[in-house]
Amino acid sequence: MKIYLDIDGVLLDTKEYKQMPYLKEFLTTVFDISKGEVYWLSTHTKHGESDVALYHLEEALDKDVFEMIKDIRNTKWNTLKTEGIDINSDFLWFDDVIFQAEYNFLESVGKEHCLIKVKDNLEELVNLLKED
Ligand SMILES: [Mg+2]
Repeated sequence: MKIYLDIDGVLLDTKEYKQMPYLKEFLTTVFDISKGEVYWLSTHTKHGESDVALYHLEEALDKDVFEMIKDIRNTKWNTLKTEGIDINSDFLWFDDVIFQAEYNFLESVGKEHCLIKVKDNLEELVNLLKED
């Protein structure tokens, strides 16, 4: 299974841009269930490079968490994040805010259940992922 991760609102809270609570547990779990197939899906990395994102994240994240995210792979997309998703694969996409057009696309291919809304609830999501 492939895992796609947004940055703002998923790794960082959008108020103070600090590390989200339970981020380490969350990343450990997604790396585990994806067998390492974790991808960026953020406006900060849409050009297919994560260097700028990593530069900013290094300040915000705990050292051990920062080491983990270095293994996240890049995706390239232009208008909609869904362009960066391997849509025929088994995947989960974690995001806090998405465009209606992105949701419509997921729905058109019957993959809307692969989107998981993050709302300060990483602890809850870890428990959910461990159950499945
Ligand atoms: Mg976001």
